[in-house]
Amino acid sequence: MRDLMADRLRPYGASIFATIGQKAIQHQSVNLGQGFPDFDCPDYLKQAATDAMAAGHNQYAPPHGVEPLRRELADFYQRQYGLSYDPQTEITVQVGSTQAMFSTLSALTNPGDEWIVFEPTYDTYVPIIEMFGGKAVPVVLHPPTFAFDPEELKRAFTNKTRGIIVNTPHNPTGRVFSHEEMTQIADLCQTNDCLAVTDEVYEHLVFEGQHIAMASLPGMRERTITISSLAKTFSITGWKIGYCLAPPAATLAIRRMHQFIAFAVATPFQYAAAQAIRHMDQVLPPLVADLAAKRLAFGQALRDLGFSVLDPQGTFFILADFRAWSAKKDVDFVLELIEGPAGVASIPISVFYGAADRAPSQFIRFCFAKKESTLQAGLAGLKRYQGVRA
Ligand code: PMP
Ligand code: GLN
Repeated sequence: MRDLMADRLRPYGASIFATIGQKAIQHQSVNLGQGFPDFDCPDYLKQAATDAMAAGHNQYAPPHGVEPLRRELADFYQRQYGLSYDPQTEITVQVGSTQAMFSTLSALTNPGDEWIVFEPTYDTYVPIIEMFGGKAVPVVLHPPTFAFDPEELKRAFTNKTRGIIVNTPHNPTGRVFSHEEMTQIADLCQTNDCLAVTDEVYEHLVFEGQHIAMASLPGMRERTITISSLAKTFSITGWKIGYCLAPPAATLAIRRMHQFIAFAVATPFQYAAAQAIRHMDQVLPPLVADLAAKRLAFGQALRDLGFSVLDPQGTFFILADFRAWSAKKDVDFVLELIEGPAGVASIPISVFYGAADRAPSQFIRFCFAKKESTLQAGLAGLKRYQGVRA
């Protein structure tokens, strides 16, 4: 095959989620890797999407998103976080939070700009920054609690810092940044006159502590780009409805980029997304209760099997320290679990670090947003592996 890839893309491999997902299919393993629920979304959402199509909402949406959705989002941010956003000039619907992040970072990065990222870092941020001539500056979250060292964070800011990316609740560690941590970040942003770009896709999946929206902290609304998505909140990862909220100057830049990437987002799903947000109070409590129970039960089951596990404060991921099981590196251990007698897919954590010498190699991530039968099949596979080794 002729190699056609542009130079700027060469440093980056295939997504770990796609790679592991493919291997899971190939080996027919229980897929606790990629973060998506294997149970269905509520029926009324499916109905809302088909209703929107039946009502003729099948042509291009306005580039910024259909008005009912932007209005619902504005109402939600007011209700939930006491934040007031203008749907006309400050809210932009995009193809998932993935596109919202791409539009944002690409629209706001000049060559030489630095963005601070917490490591482990969700896989899309650094490639976007680098492809647009910026530099990612890592600040490590230290195991076992995955808190950052405030002094290390302070030192990461330079006169080239454009901003910081804050993902809370944090994938893959399950950390929910505390009010104190968020305030420390906010203070540094203000002292250094920097932006904050947030990834809050797990904002509703919180089991301990409280989700703090960066934009709600004093002085931060004007320098924060808030990114989120309906994927995890409503178990609709396939709809790819995400959005960003940002002051007009940032929104102008983001929309300029968005018009060249997607121009507009799937129309009927936007109408259905507006319904979803309107009925959030009905959908969310049962989902969070179900995940909360699975989080504890699955965590305990992993402990019973000899893993060392810190219960996540949020998200639907759980990190397992597998040193009592194997001295292998995480990537090799993950492959052994998929291909061997366990038949279970998980995600290695070292891939979320920019340099091997900073990456721990003893953690794998399981997704517990799965049917009980899937989780039990996964645990049975892990027991089988133990039996084979014993
Ligand atoms: N950010 C984080 C931290 C995620 O875990 C994910 C995957 N759910 C995304 C962004 C992508 O979300 P979306 O499907 O809305 O693009
Ligand atoms: N966010 C999901 C995860 O962490 C994956 C989404 C994707 O595959 N891009 O597992």
